Amino acid sequence: MPEIRLENLIKCYGAVQVLHGINLSMAENEFTALVGPSGCGKSTTLRMIAGLETVSEGEIFLNDQPISHLEPKDRNLAMVFQDYALYPHMDVARNISFALRLQKRPKAEIEAKVREVADIVGLTEFLHRKPGALSGGQRQRVAMARALAKDSDIFLFDEPLSNLDAKLRGQMRAELAVMRQRVKKNMIYVTHDQIEAMTLADRIVVMHGGYIQQQGTPETLFKKPNNKFVAGFLGSPPMNFLQADLRREDDTLFAIGDAFKIAIPASKSKELGQTSGHVTLGVRPSDLIYAPDAQDATALDLQVKISEYIGAQSVLLCACGSADVTVELKSETPIALGETLRFAVRPEGIHLFDRKTELAL
Ligand code: ADP
Ligand code: MG
Repeated sequence: MPEIRLENLIKCYGAVQVLHGINLSMAENEFTALVGPSGCGKSTTLRMIAGLETVSEGEIFLNDQPISHLEPKDRNLAMVFQDYALYPHMDVARNISFALRLQKRPKAEIEAKVREVADIVGLTEFLHRKPGALSGGQRQRVAMARALAKDSDIFLFDEPLSNLDAKLRGQMRAELAVMRQRVKKNMIYVTHDQIEAMTLADRIVVMHGGYIQQQGTPETLFKKPNNKFVAGFLGSPPMNFLQADLRREDDTLFAIGDAFKIAIPASKSKELGQTSGHVTLGVRPSDLIYAPDAQDATALDLQVKISEYIGAQSVLLCACGSADVTVELKSETPIALGETLRFAVRPEGIHLFDRKTELAL
């Protein structure tokens, strides 16, 4: 029952500190995605778990045993990198079985294992091809199969799909989701792609600047982001942010900004710690509904600047006063550039952040 725990993990390169105390624990059979923009420390964290980077401070525990002093080969982990790092002169079967052959396992056992993992990743027909005769997606599958063949307790993936083109990435993402159902192991998956994280992970850990911003299920992070960074990082198109001031008028709390005045629903204003001050109002495009008849205090009036046709939906970039707001609309809705349209704000889609600390209110 492998459980991995990071305790106050710190990494310094010379005088530069790139990880500032990472605390994380991953339960049995959990798929954890570390997600964040480039340079936030995802790979460094993963490489420390794998033993490819030294730990500056803190400790990594595997089933409550400290492992940061162990060599990579003694950690029983398998890692898949972005560049598949296959042996070009070996065919698929020999690439997959490389570690097993090094361990001098019995031939029959090796063959059975190769067949088993080739089946999981869909490579059965390609076992005798060399990597040079495979597509990028197939090569990445070989790298996955090689990791699976090692029978490790824990799988580490560092951006395994980011060398693939968009369509293949989508396809491989779906295959990974299927593989994930069949292979019940701890997996830690690093990606800068929030969609990969959202679709694959049981738990997402959002990192930024060497700090964990928030961790939780995809749904929790999407619906209840702790701060403006997490709110803006997850979701596509991203959340809109508008500067506003909170003001109470009679019994109603309003968020008032340039060209809008939105009533905060009573349920939300009750749990708010404050009833005045400078805030950022966050609303996802999916929480803005085209509604010409919506009431003033529940809607934004948006002037259409750009319309991007992407099929059934169009993405409209609009002006709300001096700010930009993105909305989505059924493509058949007749609209003209320059026109002002009214969009109702779904009450549960209203997010408020302290403008200074950027923490959710
Ligand atoms: P990510 O994988 O999230 O893109 P990394 O973990 O690779 O980010 O890097 C985190 C930070 O550490 C970056 O600012 C990067 O420049 C720095 N860094 C990574 N490796 C080294 C190194 N060997 N020496 C110095 N700085 C490094
Ligand atoms: Mg990286």
